[in-house]
Amino acid sequence: MSETASTSRQVSPDSGEIWSMAGPWKVADGVYRLPLPLPNDSLRAVNVYLLEHTGGLTLIDGGWAVAAARDTLESGVTSLGYELRDIRRLLVTHVHRDHYTLARLIGRECGAEVVLGGPERPGLEVARAGTEVRKDLMAADLLQAGAAGLADAWRALHSAPGDEDAWGDPDRWLQGDQLIPLGLGHLHALHTPGHTTGHYVYADRPAGVLFAGDHVLPTITPSVGFESPRARDPLGDFIRSLAKIRALPDMRLLPAHGPVRPSAHQRIDELLAHHEQRLAQCRDVLSAGPVSAYHVAAELTWTRRELPFTAMDVFNQALAALETMAHLDVLVARGQARVRNGGTPSTYTTPASPGR
Ligand SMILES: [Zn+2]
Repeated sequence: MSETASTSRQVSPDSGEIWSMAGPWKVADGVYRLPLPLPNDSLRAVNVYLLEHTGGLTLIDGGWAVAAARDTLESGVTSLGYELRDIRRLLVTHVHRDHYTLARLIGRECGAEVVLGGPERPGLEVARAGTEVRKDLMAADLLQAGAAGLADAWRALHSAPGDEDAWGDPDRWLQGDQLIPLGLGHLHALHTPGHTTGHYVYADRPAGVLFAGDHVLPTITPSVGFESPRARDPLGDFIRSLAKIRALPDMRLLPAHGPVRPSAHQRIDELLAHHEQRLAQCRDVLSAGPVSAYHVAAELTWTRRELPFTAMDVFNQALAALETMAHLDVLVARGQARVRNGGTPSTYTTPASPGR
């Protein structure tokens, strides 16, 4: 269809319907958005961003290591007059499969440097350890959340065979916030733990654009607490990381999933408000008595469509149970809830019920 044929000259679409169509879509001078396909994934696509600069190309995120994504990346790069080997560096926002694995393979193929946040190292080791280790860790977290049935169902889920090459170490680990030279200028690499412990965003301050990875997504809320090994306070980390980026001058939001949006601040405010609302809902459920995270999750509605918990599949129920545990742990940190016992599962109660 001619009206949707992508060329490098078109402006990146803001429509929720067409954001995932193959690019490249120009988003700023020397910056292109390339949506890459994902296998069997409701997220539809992952945006990688190609930056032109003296000395070659830099890619922000790499995509999921499947042939269709590699082909889409290669044709996008070619249509801009480059070859894959012009990619000199891949800055990966976090260790999840849809961001890291193709970056690692392309880096090896093209002799390009792959960069990842240092605190992702334990997550990468778990990813590399294989399906059974990952299932055991996730099942243990689900048991802690009081979701024994989900833990069993999780173990029974089919999982794709591992790809050891795609889970190799990066060439460089980031530590703290760093400046990364880029042509005549630089990018700010900013540590934003929450979605994962070693998540980074990359800010081009003069251009006013924020490569946000999965830290700030325009149409969905990034998952929190769904990471192995599990962080101690993933939602607390996430809220602090949102505030950290909110304290910077506003930038255009260039997310890993979904369309480009004019204001990162606006979306951060929406995400913060969403989590405060969820925290209040969790407190309401807690006031009815000591409960597990799973119990609280089952009392809430889910997604923008306000689905009952039982209407979701095993994967999304597990996501919901662990995210609820993250909310309850923030209430504990704020003194608005407490953990009644130290065992498994964790049982949460209000601070005003010392006798129970
Ligand atoms: Zn992602």
